[in-house]
Amino acid sequence: MTRTPQYPEHLEKLMELLRTLPGIGRRAAERAALSILRWDAEKQQTLGNLLAELENTVGFCPECGAISAKDTLCPICADVTRDRSLLCVVEEPQQIFAVEKSGIYRGLYHVLGGKLSPLSGSNGEDLATGSLLRRAEDPECKEVILALGADVEGRATAIFLAGLLKNCHVKITRPALGLPAGAGLGYADAATISAAFDGRRDL
Ligand SMILES: [Zn+2]
Repeated sequence: MTRTPQYPEHLEKLMELLRTLPGIGRRAAERAALSILRWDAEKQQTLGNLLAELENTVGFCPECGAISAKDTLCPICADVTRDRSLLCVVEEPQQIFAVEKSGIYRGLYHVLGGKLSPLSGSNGEDLATGSLLRRAEDPECKEVILALGADVEGRATAIFLAGLLKNCHVKITRPALGLPAGAGLGYADAATISAAFDGRRDL
């Protein structure tokens, strides 16, 4: 029996790890690993150090869940000039950057960490709803904007959250239609987001 030729074990392990990244298949992982192999030693060392230090240097904002320096409020939560009467709920941390780029919004954020997905078994237990409820109950909070995807799951999540928040004395709104269906905020351009926030309506 002929055995499939293999790279040295160390390199194979690197490829296996790279393959676990989203959107990276076997061939892409192989190309990436071989490219890293050709880097000079200093660059390889830098990558290794960055990865080794990641867990101790980068984490999530204890208030809103945005990606932040470890155990540190993110710059938005720490900014005393932000409008604390507005709380914008997004599915994933990177969507904060999309809204910030539009420059229209000066309130705070809350990262849900996903959305309802009955088909893949998420019925809301794994979402950051407890902390959302606590923040919405803060007397300073007047409006919660549900900036979720325009897809079926995003809409179901908005209805679920509106139910959870119904006893809080806050206005519940959503951005006007215009966000790309199925994509959500992450892929919308600044002008689209600006228009969607400007025309937000009651849920
Ligand atoms: Zn924060």
